[in-house]
Amino acid sequence: MMWCRFSYYSNGLTQDLRTSLVYTETMIISMRQHATREEIDHVCERIREFGYKVHSIEGDERVVIGVVGLGDVTACLESLEATPGVESAVRISAPYKFVSREFKKEPSVIRLDGMAIGGDEFIVMAGPCAVENERQIMETAEAVAEAGARALRGGAFKPRTSPYDFQGLELEGLRLLRKAKERTGLAIVTEIMSDRDVELVAEYADCMQVGARNMQNFALLKSLGGCGRPVLLKRGMSSTIKELLMSAEYVVAHGNPNVILCERGIRTFETVTRNTCDIAAVPVLHEMSHLPVVLDPSHATGKRSLVPALARAGVAIGADGVIVEVHPCPEKAASDGAQSLTLDGFRQMMRELAPYIRLWRETRAALAAASAAPAAA
Ligand code: PEP
Ligand code: MN
Repeated sequence: MMWCRFSYYSNGLTQDLRTSLVYTETMIISMRQHATREEIDHVCERIREFGYKVHSIEGDERVVIGVVGLGDVTACLESLEATPGVESAVRISAPYKFVSREFKKEPSVIRLDGMAIGGDEFIVMAGPCAVENERQIMETAEAVAEAGARALRGGAFKPRTSPYDFQGLELEGLRLLRKAKERTGLAIVTEIMSDRDVELVAEYADCMQVGARNMQNFALLKSLGGCGRPVLLKRGMSSTIKELLMSAEYVVAHGNPNVILCERGIRTFETVTRNTCDIAAVPVLHEMSHLPVVLDPSHATGKRSLVPALARAGVAIGADGVIVEVHPCPEKAASDGAQSLTLDGFRQMMRELAPYIRLWRETRAALAAASAAPAAA
């Protein structure tokens, strides 16, 4: 069963949905597959009679109606369940509504420049922490592409703890990323730090990375609702999983359903590693949300020697991909050299991951077959 294209994602309804965010209740009404126009209109009428707003609808195969507002939920649900054409009516109790599993049971598959994240392919994104110069980015792009990466990462705008550290090449960095894409065909994942730069970065990026430090930059999250690119949202270093999901909700509620979640380690009392990788966050997020989840083993550990092991753990635990830092000469890197793999180190990691990824594919295929089975029966 395919879920419909929800029209609350469309620009036309975004404004409407913004208004609705003050409301506390959300319900989702799934219509039967061949519900008639009259049945759909009647359901919408009933919803309005109960004092709720309709944020629907119109799928290619099925109509799903989002309902928001304040009112008598139980009475409304009971009435709608008994209304002709309705298959199911459920209340979404999670504060993160549209990113929750309650809202959508099937995993979301996000298209990113011709590839798909969240589906049947394990995606490796790799590249330097920061774009430093043409030679560095080209050499890295060619090496990671050849070794099997599908996307090139690299910051042109860098969030640095110290204002005296390298801040990124900005526009020049974006231009170099474009050149690397032209040369290798890799999709570009790069960081967006300010809502002022959204249009500029979206012109060059296939995927807009929101860094840990900006996970709760709400002005930025809102503006990414209309950026027209998938967003890779990294977990803040002291953020809970619920806070991460609420941040994802901002982007989705403002019009962009294409959010990829990223676990990149959190701050704990441990000091041996740069951060503590919350590996359980991967299946936890999959349980709580339909959005894809990738793991960043580089920032999660801060140590090159630990990256391959954690990447393996990411594959084994069912992440949808990994994002890894790689540099042709880590000791000269402008940022994050200690956690960057060398080109050889990356090749080796990819060779080691191959059997795990084969197993990952088999597991995914089995899961997909199992979830399709009841519908086919
Ligand atoms: C990065 O990806 O280089 C980065 C700054 O990551 P994070 O936001 O997770 O610290
Ligand atoms: Mn980095």
